[in-house]
Amino acid sequence: MPADLLRHAENAKGFMPPDEGALLHRVALERAPYGPLLEVGTYCGKSAIYLGAAARAAVASGHAEAVVLTVDHHRGSEENQAGWEHHDTSLVDPETGLMDTLPVFRRTVAASGLEDLVVALVGRSTTVSAHWRTPLSLLFIDGGHAKEHAQNDYTGWARWVMPGGHLVIHDVFEHPEDGGQAPYHVFLRALEGGAFTEVETVGSMRVLRRASGEPGEPVG
Ligand code: SAH
Ligand code: MG
Repeated sequence: MPADLLRHAENAKGFMPPDEGALLHRVALERAPYGPLLEVGTYCGKSAIYLGAAARAAVASGHAEAVVLTVDHHRGSEENQAGWEHHDTSLVDPETGLMDTLPVFRRTVAASGLEDLVVALVGRSTTVSAHWRTPLSLLFIDGGHAKEHAQNDYTGWARWVMPGGHLVIHDVFEHPEDGGQAPYHVFLRALEGGAFTEVETVGSMRVLRRASGEPGEPVG
């Protein structure tokens, strides 16, 4: 990853350790020529820079349509709300009293020079996925970690991964002592459904590949 983009990614506000970001970038580099990279869970744009750097490389090598689409309502997950572990008071909109990560996302992506390549889709994941029809070369699930949200993200989006495309899931913890179990259960569901096979692991990041089915066909 180019040093300037790596610096932007590492300095951005968010939840992506460098080694897991590097894996995300590497998988995205492989996939970006074949179709859009879609992220669920933008927050302030940290992981989007690792993805955007891959789209930029793909464009530079002649794949003009390479792009990152990133979905978030920008109101924060349960654990980002006031009184919870991952609350950041600087992200509260004083006018509404609600979390709003969209302004920081915009500044972060603009400063990285990736505005043309990283497109924000602002809304609930289920609302956007209900209208989705485009095959994805890579799906990165890093949205709400409540069971309901994590499962909805898989149900709504995983079917759109193209055969040979990758599904990357963040915050997968096999043991409850290490973290919440919702992403782990999504990971197990992806393997049990038979549509995905496991490719690689770094930290809490799991990389899978779509092994069967057609884009749009439910994945179990
Ligand atoms: N990828 C980010 C971290 C994402 S945090 C990084 O690299 O730092 C999870 C994000 O998911 C939050 O910004 C939250 O607003 C969003 N989110 C949670 N539930 C959601 C839902 N149902 N629809 C859309 N976004 C959601
Ligand atoms: Mg995460």
